[in-house]
Amino acid sequence: MTADAPDDDRTSFADLGLRPELLRALSGLGYEEPTPIQREAIPPLATGRDLLGQAATGTGKTAAFALPVLERMAAGGRTDPEPFALVLVPTRELAVQVSEAVHRYGRELGARVLPIYGGQPIGRQLRVLEQGVDVVVATPGRAVDHLNRGTLKLEKLEVVVLDEADEMLDMGFAEDLDAILAETPPQRQTVLFSATMPPRIDRLARQHLTDPVRITIGREQTEPGEAPRVRQSAYVVPRAHKPAALGRVLDVEAPTAAIVFCRTRDEVDQLTETLNGRGYRAESLHGGISQEQRDRVMARLRNGTADLLVATDVAARGLDVEQLTHVVNYNVPSAPESYVHRIGRVGRAGREGVAITLAEPREHGMLKTIERVTKQRIQVEKVPTVADLRARRLELTRAALHESLLEDDLEGFRVVVETLADEFDVMEIALAAVKLAHESSGAAADEEEEIPEYTPRPDRRGGTGGEPRRERKPRRPTAGMTRLFVGAGRSAGIRPQDLVGAIAGEARLHGREIGAIEIADRFSLVEVPDGAAQQVIAALRGATIKGRKVTVRRERDDHR
Ligand code: AMP
Repeated sequence: MTADAPDDDRTSFADLGLRPELLRALSGLGYEEPTPIQREAIPPLATGRDLLGQAATGTGKTAAFALPVLERMAAGGRTDPEPFALVLVPTRELAVQVSEAVHRYGRELGARVLPIYGGQPIGRQLRVLEQGVDVVVATPGRAVDHLNRGTLKLEKLEVVVLDEADEMLDMGFAEDLDAILAETPPQRQTVLFSATMPPRIDRLARQHLTDPVRITIGREQTEPGEAPRVRQSAYVVPRAHKPAALGRVLDVEAPTAAIVFCRTRDEVDQLTETLNGRGYRAESLHGGISQEQRDRVMARLRNGTADLLVATDVAARGLDVEQLTHVVNYNVPSAPESYVHRIGRVGRAGREGVAITLAEPREHGMLKTIERVTKQRIQVEKVPTVADLRARRLELTRAALHESLLEDDLEGFRVVVETLADEFDVMEIALAAVKLAHESSGAAADEEEEIPEYTPRPDRRGGTGGEPRRERKPRRPTAGMTRLFVGAGRSAGIRPQDLVGAIAGEARLHGREIGAIEIADRFSLVEVPDGAAQQVIAALRGATIKGRKVTVRRERDDHR
């Protein structure tokens, strides 16, 4: 594809032999390549083999079974009212989610998909079943109800999928599963996915599957030492709160340069927009981006005018950014190998790298799998709260005031304090002044919505929750770097690229040598290599940034 992303021999969805209607649907959804489970499962399923797959949520297992199911549909849609495929799932949420996925993939084929689960009025389900459906996605209990009423007919069934079979057994659905499978034609294809493979699953498989292909995602152990030494943490957040959570985590982490991995093109575009709205300089990279744009994006990242790269795996392949400090997985990667590969991009050459993973509560199991395979711990952290953000912003206000006190140009304001002091205590006056300064710095943490805290249930896979909270210490400069104070910030319209431009231009430092940049309202902090600090200070003192002369000096240790 490009010099940055060499074309390799990876399998595409087209290589898997999927029909054009499905290929168009996948491309429309922004899927760029199959996940490992899809690469392995789709070909045997397409030939009609039974399959026993060990894979957790987040691996792309839904598409792995849904696509071969849809391959079976006649072009132009079916006319039989009875379903040809039945997917059994443990919960109502999963029923809705899987049926939406099948609907999206099968839209062009006119696939009629119906979720049926308890708690929903049965009348509507009856009407739709009567009109005819192709794929039913059901919880076992409700499926049995319909079988008993004679409203779900399974004679035309060609495929049965047991999704999250371990969960279904745990929830006491074993008998229901047997009853349902007994009603299906013996020559049907049977697919069983389970996150874990306890003996009960083996028994279920022996009973109902015929000579199945076995697939495991995440069993191969990575050689010790193969996975890089990187500080690894994860945040478990509901989907709806992920953009806000990522924004906060980045605010606290303040990466110099980070790559944020997303699953699809649309996700890349949306997240780039969100992050730019939060004041980051984010650039997108995905399969739909031209070579020319790609080169531009890479140049911006290398010279420090962009700090976040939001990318799909495909687009990021082969890309080497030396100054990368953080790798962010906006979703749990679809396989442990992919996780290892992604985080291998930081922590090189003895530098500290940081890997951050956002996981939805359902994907918690996949995090455990990754920990097991990599034999490394992923620390589950709490998303910074509104109170944390507020504290951080107060800290910035305090630092700004401290700076102002050192500047020694306060005489002009003495009259204000003196006049007020006739009526108020000096402490009170100071408080009011701090409040005004704080508010005028646009520190509007109150606009942030609260993100619900996730407590993992104490399940058999063991939770990583309940970890003692690590205190967030004020950030120290990176080793080998000196932090400089620059007396102009956001309110003067200073953006990171202005500082990079000024330092690179005046002090002949390369953009990539400049470290973390933090812009507060009235000042900025920028890290430069220890050896270059004096030269940068000297050069900037004689220069202007955004047309104004600014104070530049080493940041004092007592600054915050
Ligand atoms: P699942 O493990 O089936 O719950 O899928 C996890 C998520 O990955 C879902 O949001 C899917 O839409 C998404 N997904 C599945 N396959 C792919 C793919 N090949 N490329 C990008 N996203 C995918």
